[in-house]
Amino acid sequence: MMSTKCYKHGVTSGQRNPHAGTPFTDSDAAIARALEDVSVPALLCALVHMTGDPSWVRGDVRPRARAAFDVQLGVSPEEQGTIRRLALPAIAAYRDSGCTPHEVSTALRTEMMSFLAGRPAPERVAAFFHDDLHLDGDDHGDVAWAAQVPDAVKDRSPVVVIGCGMGGILAGIRLTQAGLPFTIIDKNSGPGGTWWENRYPGARVDVGSHQYCFSFEPSDHWSEYYCRQPELQAYFERILDKYGLRARTRFDTEVTAVRWDEDAERWQVRTRAADGSEDTLSARFVISAVGSLNLPRLPEIPGMEQFAGPSFHSARWPSNLDLNGTRFALIGAGASGFQIAPAIAAAVDQLTIFQRTAQWMLPNPMYHQPVPPGDRWALRHLPFYGRWLRCIMTFSGVASGTDGFRVDPGYSAPDGLAVNKTHAQRKDLLLGWLLSFLDDRPDLVDKVVPDYPAMGKRILQDDGTWLRTLKLPNIELVRMGIDHIERDGVVLVDGTRQSADVICYATGFRHNEYLAPMDVIGRSGVSLRARWGDEPSAFLGITVSDFPNFFMVYGPGTNLAHSASLFLHAEFQMHYTMDAIGRVLSAGARTIEVRDDVLSGYMERYQAEIGQLIWSHPSITHSHYKNPNGRIFTLWPWSVDQYWEWTRAVDPDDYLIA
Ligand code: NAP
Repeated sequence: MMSTKCYKHGVTSGQRNPHAGTPFTDSDAAIARALEDVSVPALLCALVHMTGDPSWVRGDVRPRARAAFDVQLGVSPEEQGTIRRLALPAIAAYRDSGCTPHEVSTALRTEMMSFLAGRPAPERVAAFFHDDLHLDGDDHGDVAWAAQVPDAVKDRSPVVVIGCGMGGILAGIRLTQAGLPFTIIDKNSGPGGTWWENRYPGARVDVGSHQYCFSFEPSDHWSEYYCRQPELQAYFERILDKYGLRARTRFDTEVTAVRWDEDAERWQVRTRAADGSEDTLSARFVISAVGSLNLPRLPEIPGMEQFAGPSFHSARWPSNLDLNGTRFALIGAGASGFQIAPAIAAAVDQLTIFQRTAQWMLPNPMYHQPVPPGDRWALRHLPFYGRWLRCIMTFSGVASGTDGFRVDPGYSAPDGLAVNKTHAQRKDLLLGWLLSFLDDRPDLVDKVVPDYPAMGKRILQDDGTWLRTLKLPNIELVRMGIDHIERDGVVLVDGTRQSADVICYATGFRHNEYLAPMDVIGRSGVSLRARWGDEPSAFLGITVSDFPNFFMVYGPGTNLAHSASLFLHAEFQMHYTMDAIGRVLSAGARTIEVRDDVLSGYMERYQAEIGQLIWSHPSITHSHYKNPNGRIFTLWPWSVDQYWEWTRAVDPDDYLIA
């Protein structure tokens, strides 16, 4: 259903490609200063656009590394200097001739991807990146069928979107493009979903900002390579307003139940506003974009209710909390606790971190780095520079797929920390880096080194901040079970007592409980929760049999543990959803519903695949990826480009369209 529109480069019919950069008149000296801060491989690609000369990516200076965390991709400082010198007159000439980029063919763009990758870009990976990078200026997710469906049909087809986070905002944008009437409903007072709720000190993204954003929204504004929560929140607010979605969103309103009305062939969506008032909306289609890492999981530790001081989940951090002079107990050291500890260490008197399981982390020198002024200038002005930077940050993860995470049954690691030969090399790197911080603190080694295969739980990023924090005099890392909590402290299983004035439970979310606490009732009164139990299943994570015209963004089995960004997945899911809706409306049909045998066949393949991957490893006893029986229904087990391909269009054979 969706069509790829014609290519346009630079400037077409008065409209400048949003990724072509804004024209500039900066002096040579100012440009030379800016060039000191740029990624040279991305600059080389931008130079091809500026000059039309492919020799920039055919010379001796070539990327040698594949690390997404090194935007220079292993290009040496001397080589960087050479390219910067050569680039200056070329950029000045581009400036003087009016800043109009040259056309670059698809074949040359593929060559540029291969140049950055240091190897030929696989066909499907290249196709995915052509789609994601929008080098032609088109938003490939735009809804192509909008003009084909009569307005009267659209007017009779209201949609309810549940959630106004990343997925709900995207749904609003696509539904606007389609010309369908819709309402977005969110229980919070503003947009952003989990990013609205998680405001703890230190909250920041741990996927690079230039890929953790919509592909069609230029990303030249981030002040840090891994931005903090307020900046991402501001991004969501800006997009909400830019696309006129605020007036179509009911905030402070919770969806309590969604019920399929068989006779009307519509969904009845029950809502409850913050003032207690209830309402029912009738919708032809429902798009659930409720997220899946936002129901706080509080531990069940005896005595929790007796604690006299403030105690709260990390996603409910009190806005007026005074940390000064406190003895702070941080229970949990996953992605949230890992960010909280360094951010509060200086303010508190004593910080005790209760860590049940040690974490693996990737050495990432960019994790707390600001985007320097020269790079921001390049992102704003050099044609497609930002696109190529996004490609650098995303490519290696996407192109590597999941094979590096596959458990080789014939491989046995002496330390039990690796699952295949290549993985063992990666593990050595991570372990070596961890230990390099602990020469002066051998007492921390046993507490910090994990006892399960590297990257078998959600991987964290560190530039040394976490490990340095652990060595501060007012920090204690405890790797022992908690027995109970008392009025003013935490007691460990060996009877040791840690006094505390404040407790933060950074204990994660009920990831496996998709769509809870909403009641979703489909055909013949079937409850989605009862149907799922602990095994939430959806075709491609998007549709479920007996639940016609119901779609999910970030549904079961679509979380990413191996690479890329959930923004990509949300775009795939919405692309597919809009295609499905378009098929119903264009055909004059009423419903679309995935076939039961298609869903069960898919889930068999899903389980066969995820069962071979590291996250299912039996040595991992605590993981929010796993359900209570140790099986996984949360993660995407194939490559990102595979998902992209499968979500390009609905296969009518998979569905009952009536
Ligand atoms: P998490 O990764 O599930 O970590 C929870 C922590 O609490 C773990 O250390 C866990 O120990 C511990 N814990 C849980 N129950 C416990 C109990 N009963 N007793 C003692 N310790 C207990 O949760 P999270 O840190 O909130 O992160 C959840 C997800 O949110 C992440 O995977 C990520 O997807 C997302 N997130 C992202 C960012 C970001 O992008 N920057 C930031 C925060 C969160 P075990 O390891 O032993 O289970």
